[in-house]
Amino acid sequence: SGERFDAVVVGAGPAGAAAAYTMASQGLSVVMLERGEFPGAKNMFGGVLYRHALEALIGEAWKESGLPVERVVTEQRYWLLGPESVVSIGHRHARFMDPPNAWTAFRARFDPWLAGKAKAAGALPVYQTTAIDLLRDPATGRVTGVLVDRDEGELYADVVVIADGVNSLLREKLGIPRWKPHQVSLAVKEVLALPREKIEDRFNLEGNEGVTIEFLGATSRGLTGLGFLYTNKETLSLGIGVMVDDLLRRPIAPYELLESVKQHPMLHKLLHGAETVEYSAHMIPEGAWHAVPQLAGDGWVLCGDAAGLVNFVNREGSNLAMLSGQMAGEVIVEARRAGDLSAQRLMAYDRRVRRSVIGQDLRKIRRLPAMLHRWGGERLFDHLVGAINEAAYRYFLVDGTPKRQAEAEALRHVVRAAGGWRGTMRLAWDALRGV
Ligand code: FAD
Repeated sequence: SGERFDAVVVGAGPAGAAAAYTMASQGLSVVMLERGEFPGAKNMFGGVLYRHALEALIGEAWKESGLPVERVVTEQRYWLLGPESVVSIGHRHARFMDPPNAWTAFRARFDPWLAGKAKAAGALPVYQTTAIDLLRDPATGRVTGVLVDRDEGELYADVVVIADGVNSLLREKLGIPRWKPHQVSLAVKEVLALPREKIEDRFNLEGNEGVTIEFLGATSRGLTGLGFLYTNKETLSLGIGVMVDDLLRRPIAPYELLESVKQHPMLHKLLHGAETVEYSAHMIPEGAWHAVPQLAGDGWVLCGDAAGLVNFVNREGSNLAMLSGQMAGEVIVEARRAGDLSAQRLMAYDRRVRRSVIGQDLRKIRRLPAMLHRWGGERLFDHLVGAINEAAYRYFLVDGTPKRQAEAEALRHVVRAAGGWRGTMRLAWDALRGV
């Protein structure tokens, strides 16, 4: 009550823990709030954790034993699914192993580990505590702390780091509008248990190698959606995310969607005999550049999912969360040293994020959310992906048809699905500009 800190961090996910770690390492007094029983208790993601951002934050400390990860991702596959077919592309490289480019992981294990690093650096963890409002200086309006759901729950700080995730309450308290339906997806995930030898056989793996499969097409039933299947040590992570605007147009219960995903013949073969051990759902901010609000103001900065910093094309979110948390922490440390914690000074964080790889990648895909909305899931994910499968079938079928004719037929499948030649040109143009 009435206690004062250099910074209050709201949320001990990757963004908040990274910010807390960075500031505490530089000697700032930091309190790290988390509403969960422990960090990660209720958090989920698909499962790919990238080394780069972790190393940028904690250096070589990821090498110590105890980093809670599952397998090293050495192969990544993309699947375009027809109702009973697949067109696939993928890449495997031994070099992804050493040093690991990415791992599969569980947030319920990774988040406490990373928050533990922040604690070891000196941040004060306060769990099972929810920030319910911002405190403001009545005269200037400057944010001076947070109100938490405890008796005498005022926590005062020079800066509040808002890292409370996609459904950020504090961002709303700042007056930042909610996500529009075409800027956010709803994802459901199941963890399925399967013996290690079966996983290694079915996915052609040895030791701690791992595979990721992203799939789209028939599995999203005409919605704009992306599915994933990742290998863990003794489990598989299976999920699918669909754009909320599409869900509003064609309501399908997410768990029903996941049930039908499991029945797809290409996935069924890999999942056969696996038993569901966990089920969860979560939102993903997918608005890219145009949905990113102002990232700093008088007494506050915004990080990670709360700021919409997700590159959904390359399924990068946890790494961008860590990078943004670290940048926020660094800017606050610098601002303190300069003795200037004004809004203008904190806006250096906004500029830094936008100029960094985060801003560059979100700008690169800035047109994609509107484009996906315009084309609609049915046309792109049902008709077009279906046609690509038919085209591939025609291409590979040997039935006495001369090749020139077979190739022309294959091409016609795709052109027809795109709405004729004009539609095909428009789609190609949009796609080139979109990604
Ligand atoms: P979060 O991880 O959401 O953390 C926010 C924290 O704040 C939570 O711990 C929450 O409990 C806490 N909190 C919320 N409100 C309050 C409050 N008022 N007071 C106190 N605490 C509060 N990213 C990848 O890099 N790779 C992937 O493979 C990947 N796959 C994904 C698959 C799915 C299905 C989903 C949903 C996301 C995926 N992501 C992936 C994205 C990634 O999970 C997020 O970008 C990342 O978790 C964002 O981190 P964050 O710290 O900003 O937010």
